[in-house]
Amino acid sequence: MLYAPPRPAASLPPVRVNLYSDTQTKPSPGMRDAMLHAEVGDEQHGDDPTIHALCDRMAALLGKEAAMFLPSGTMCNQISLLTHCQPGDEVIAHESAHIISNEGGAPGALTGASVLGLRGARGQFDADALRQAVREKRRNIPTQVLVAVEQTANLGGGSVWPLDKLNGVLDAAHQLGFATHMDGARLMNASVAAGIAAKDMAAGCDSVWLDFTKGLGAPLGAVLCGSAAFIDDAWRWKQRMGGALRQGGVCAAACLYALDHNIERLADDHANAKNLAHGLAQIRGLVLEEPETNLVFFDTAGTGMDADDLADRAREEGVMISTMGRYRARACTHLDVDAAGVALAIEVIRRVAVR
Ligand SMILES: *Cc1c(COP(=O)(O)O)cnc(C)c1O
Repeated sequence: MLYAPPRPAASLPPVRVNLYSDTQTKPSPGMRDAMLHAEVGDEQHGDDPTIHALCDRMAALLGKEAAMFLPSGTMCNQISLLTHCQPGDEVIAHESAHIISNEGGAPGALTGASVLGLRGARGQFDADALRQAVREKRRNIPTQVLVAVEQTANLGGGSVWPLDKLNGVLDAAHQLGFATHMDGARLMNASVAAGIAAKDMAAGCDSVWLDFTKGLGAPLGAVLCGSAAFIDDAWRWKQRMGGALRQGGVCAAACLYALDHNIERLADDHANAKNLAHGLAQIRGLVLEEPETNLVFFDTAGTGMDADDLADRAREEGVMISTMGRYRARACTHLDVDAAGVALAIEVIRRVAVR
């Protein structure tokens, strides 16, 4: 088993358009400058003013009492599960959820919780599906305690939960006595795409977090928000997991810079994604999922090629995309991809999609 990521092969040509993920953005000169000049202190001691400023901004942005700075989104998800659940409890999420498929089995490994995956189009489920998943309360049955949603739903095609559907699920969860959690890795993409304030999207969530390393372009950092009591409990886990920082303000400064400069421009990424999807849809053999935000998923089966084959061929020509299944490919727009990059990617993929 190979656990460490591979080193880039020296023989590959340089990357010309990187649509692999919005995590591949490099901090801009302005962001690096903000990091250079950050005022810092010992976070574990409560003394980092830049982290305090970021947490205050984030609590206001997401409409919660309190916030906590963490290195990554995965740590936000897992600390939330640890705080909401006891070992043996069950979390209800969509079957495509990041917590199920992309966090190394952490709900089982760390919290000792199982996750029940619900079906539903585009990474979403509705209140009826939730009610149907409710188990009896008996000693031989796992105790369900938490409902988790992803906004946007990554493997759901970067889809945006409509507000009424989202609130239907979150209200039903609360009526059933469950806590609610939002994986908001790309919450600002959802907010910008729908024209709805992030705090309105997060209103029904007891915990919610935003990633700064996706479309917002920071090198690390995510902020988890909730009630003051929730964040206080969550601090116990931040400390235990080794997520309590020292002069983390250097990184929080990048996140503050992202809040000031990189949110409204997410609309450009969404426009680029639409153009990319429309260009790719003209290529024989490719079937596109209509993008709602910055993630463009397409099926390669009609080309006779696996998604991996197509991605390898595109990489040989300097275009990086990712794959999410045998025939499912993903191309992701972000602040390091412009309209010319989109045009080049379409041209290259057209060439390599034909055997
Ligand atoms: C990227 C991502 C995460 C994990 O965030 P990291 O910062 O990479 O740990 C969690 N959920 C979703 C939906 C994501 O896309």
